[in-house]
Amino acid sequence: MAAPQETTPCTTCGGPGYVVEQVLGRPAQARRCDCQAACPRCRDTGFVLVPGPGGEKAQVCACRHLDARIVLFNKTGIPAAVAKASFEGFKVWSPDHSAAKRVAEDFARKFRSDAPSKGFLFYGRPGGGKTHLLAASLRWLTLEKGVACRYVEFMLLLSDIKAGFDSGRNQMEILKPLASVPVLAIDELGKERGTDWERSMLDELISRRFNNGLATLFATNYFLEARAAPEEPGARVATRSKDFQRDAEAMSLSQRVGDRIYSRLNEMCTFVKLDPGLDLRKDAHGAGGFWGK
Ligand SMILES: [Zn+2]
Ligand SMILES: [Zn+2]
Repeated sequence: MAAPQETTPCTTCGGPGYVVEQVLGRPAQARRCDCQAACPRCRDTGFVLVPGPGGEKAQVCACRHLDARIVLFNKTGIPAAVAKASFEGFKVWSPDHSAAKRVAEDFARKFRSDAPSKGFLFYGRPGGGKTHLLAASLRWLTLEKGVACRYVEFMLLLSDIKAGFDSGRNQMEILKPLASVPVLAIDELGKERGTDWERSMLDELISRRFNNGLATLFATNYFLEARAAPEEPGARVATRSKDFQRDAEAMSLSQRVGDRIYSRLNEMCTFVKLDPGLDLRKDAHGAGGFWGK
């Protein structure tokens, strides 16, 4: 009897057959790993013959699923800063971090396109890894499960809505792609307050997704409760704009997005705190660039 074949995982991709590339200024892109350059199963025809009760039947080879998933990932719009974000690459250094990772990983692994699922909302100061976990979730969903996803930054979403409106497109046309994608991640929620009209469009978008049972994921730097404005030690002269900035940061999420949207978020998401848990001004090196936002 032949000895079981030793399969050493590919040193480039580690096994899954795809590689994610980081190109600054461009959304994350994946490609087939060189180990998958020529498919040994179908000889690159895209089909394999599988035996069945009525004789052999042609079936789409798994390598074509890989290509389709890579296309989904490449359309997601994951920002370059977190292009390589994954669950394995997420460093856990506090109970907040392990809880948030569990929620995101559970969501991604258990997600089913044919059943409504509750999304999640991460809140906390910048530097905790919120964007990393959003990106890791979308990576898993697209590349491992073949689920179409989109990532948008809140401010860009508002300006896209506005640009669409200015160019004469109607509400439906502007919102449709985002309203129908199976999983949508909205980052930096509340960063811009937006006009009443922009907020009503946002309300429309998330209500429509909610009514269609589609999951939406959020990250925001705002807390659920208004906070005391953080003191800035050693700052003798606070400029007006700095005061303004601190006041804005101290606002609660519902103050930023409005009660209507806030209560909708409550219905459709699990709220999870994900805060760096340390004073970022004192520890600028520890929690800085590597984690992205
Ligand atoms: Zn490989
Ligand atoms: Zn193949």
